[in-house]
Amino acid sequence: MDQNWTLAIHGGAGALAKARMTPELDAGFRDGLRAALAAGARILAAGGAALDAVTHAVMALEEDPQFNAARGAVFTTDGRQEMDAAIMDGRDRRAGAVAGICGPRHPVLAARAVMEKSDAVLLAGEGALRFCRAQGLEFADPAWFHTERPWQALQKELQRRQSNAPDLRDDADRHGTVGAVARDRFANLAAATSTGGMTAKRPGRIGDSPIIGAGTWAENASCAISATGHGETFIRYAAAHEIAARIRLGGQSLQQAAAAVVAELLPLGGSGGLIGVDAAGNAVLPFNCEGMYRGIARADGALLTAIYDEAPG
Ligand code: ASP
Repeated sequence: MDQNWTLAIHGGAGALAKARMTPELDAGFRDGLRAALAAGARILAAGGAALDAVTHAVMALEEDPQFNAARGAVFTTDGRQEMDAAIMDGRDRRAGAVAGICGPRHPVLAARAVMEKSDAVLLAGEGALRFCRAQGLEFADPAWFHTERPWQALQKELQRRQSNAPDLRDDADRHGTVGAVARDRFANLAAATSTGGMTAKRPGRIGDSPIIGAGTWAENASCAISATGHGETFIRYAAAHEIAARIRLGGQSLQQAAAAVVAELLPLGGSGGLIGVDAAGNAVLPFNCEGMYRGIARADGALLTAIYDEAPG
């Protein structure tokens, strides 16, 4: 065990356009990010596991209606919320994920239960819910998850599609996600991601977040990654695993690999970003769009947040 630990989190690349940001909103987002950092940092500082730190950081973000995950999730075209989440343990590549569910208060705990209590990696829909009930996970009413901003974003988008008007929405009205990656004092890595997906997504559509190797990845030998952005592109390019492969097989650093993949995804339709850590405790938070809610906490006491292209502060 050493003294070094690192936690990075994101609240999604669906950041409010700079022009719409107010000091009050900015403060609210940063408070939410800091609360999530504190939840994970407490565990890492006490010598706890990366897996527990990412679980608790993501739970804090899921509970916060400002972000598109669990409470505050966006809606499908038929006005429902279908949530995806995943978790991965870098020690042994154990992984668990859920897709297309609405019910468990913390989808990340559902993903963790799949990893720890089932022989599956990914459970979807009704079968996933049945499993969660059998595991005794806490469920919340639909009213708990429903918030006004994503609901209004759906109404606007449905009207736009009906009138065939151009899509001029900013990222905040399109999508969002939350995620965490950590390196603990034993140099173990873990990643977790949770999302409501894309506003006005087709019912049954599953994004990159619960797809191991696309939106979520952890392996001690390379890195832990949690992604956010246009999920279809991240799936098609196996974005998170692509970074790990460049590190493990190509000898690149986390910084090189993550920056290159995020830049390469943009012209392919992959607007978004990601967070990553490696076993040395290096952290990266690259994105290729206007903003990404993000934060980092380290053993030296640093606890920093950022939204646009400013250095975390
Ligand atoms: N990647 C998520 C999805 O496609 C959305 C996001 O991160 O903004 O479901």
